[in-house]
Amino acid sequence: MAETKKLFIKTYGCQMNVYDSERMGEALEASGYVTTQTPDDADMILLNTCHIREKAAEKIYSELGRMKAHKVNNPDLKIGVAGCVAQAEGREIMRRQPAVDLVVGPQSYHRLAEMEAKTRRGEKALDTDFPIEDKFEVLKNRPKARRAPTAFLTVQEGCDKFCAFCVVPYTRGAESSRPVQRIVDEAKDLVERGVREITLLGQNVNAYHGAGIDGNEWGLAQLIWELDKVDGLERIRFTTSHPNDMQDDLIEAHEHCSKLMPYLHLPVQSGSDRILKRMNRSHTAESYLRLIERIRKARPDILMSGDFIVGFPEETEADFQATLDLIEEVRYGYAYSFKYSTRPGTPAAERAQVDDAEANERLQRLQALIFRQQMEIQQSMVGREVTVLLEKPGRDSGQMVGKSEYLHAVHINDCTAQPGDLVKARITEAVRNSLAGAMV
Ligand code: SF4
Repeated sequence: MAETKKLFIKTYGCQMNVYDSERMGEALEASGYVTTQTPDDADMILLNTCHIREKAAEKIYSELGRMKAHKVNNPDLKIGVAGCVAQAEGREIMRRQPAVDLVVGPQSYHRLAEMEAKTRRGEKALDTDFPIEDKFEVLKNRPKARRAPTAFLTVQEGCDKFCAFCVVPYTRGAESSRPVQRIVDEAKDLVERGVREITLLGQNVNAYHGAGIDGNEWGLAQLIWELDKVDGLERIRFTTSHPNDMQDDLIEAHEHCSKLMPYLHLPVQSGSDRILKRMNRSHTAESYLRLIERIRKARPDILMSGDFIVGFPEETEADFQATLDLIEEVRYGYAYSFKYSTRPGTPAAERAQVDDAEANERLQRLQALIFRQQMEIQQSMVGREVTVLLEKPGRDSGQMVGKSEYLHAVHINDCTAQPGDLVKARITEAVRNSLAGAMV
């Protein structure tokens, strides 16, 4: 038996990185690692990185500088970098920070055990391949410990869209989808261990095209209907989608599949057709608005969520105003908004940049509008009855916290139910980022 060692993983960025960190922890269990919440007593430190924004990459180097200090007290400590910065920068990371022992990309972390063994022999380990073997197949036997009621499950990776500002196609590669049967098996395993809600993950999840149980290629809607048959799985969500891949059968699934939650994250980035073209988004503001109309016709109470980039190269005040107009028309329950960030190697990086102060001012105006909409929609929930999947105890005694079907955080006082229970609650109050409810 490998002697027990401690693994500290720090995760940056998206839900898929959260899922990957979990799988990397499992991959190193075979080498005797258990996870620890602090780098102070770690035998290995792994930074699972994000490359989406400029600062994100630079942040990693300053973090590595801090982590290196731990080697003073523990000379056998190993430091590794994983995720999209590892994929994008590879050997450069070891050149800039010689204290790094291991660099592994998102597609090869199933080889972590042998890489770790290499570092224990005093060698450096680097793997940013796009291997032919399916990492999930190698990692399919997951530990049997009880889990929290909600879980992520990666079903698709990579992206073929090549939006002009995005590094994902370069760091995660071309779109690839996992076979339906493997996903169903993993979902059943998660349910056996206490999961009631699964969020299907993909950089472009609604472009899912996996091998179906009948040998044909299945889309996301067919996968969702197959997961709908899993006893004990109460809720299904998916993220992140592209407007051009919202097929009719997926909209119909929102209308007819009761386990598919009425929440849809559908990034648009800009409301200006000129900027959408320059972003290479391959759709117009009008087609996006028509799509939202069709989705709301199928599921009138659906809560929409979006992504916006402000200050994209060459964006004018008129372009920005078109974005505000689109937001006014859609009305978002949530929206994530960012100032454009130059990403080396992406087409937009070479273009004339918007003045930084101008971009900051626009971001504030956009976030003020989004916040106003978010609060109005939360306020409109007061008096309504929702179903809450309880996740954990709240701050106050007798209080439980969970998420409604619209993904609103809800805290319920005097709650006699337990994590994993689905309870009916009437919303009594809307506060900044959550709702208060009373058991019905
Ligand atoms: S669709 Fe999303 S992941 Fe794909 S290139 Fe565009 S922004 Fe990146």
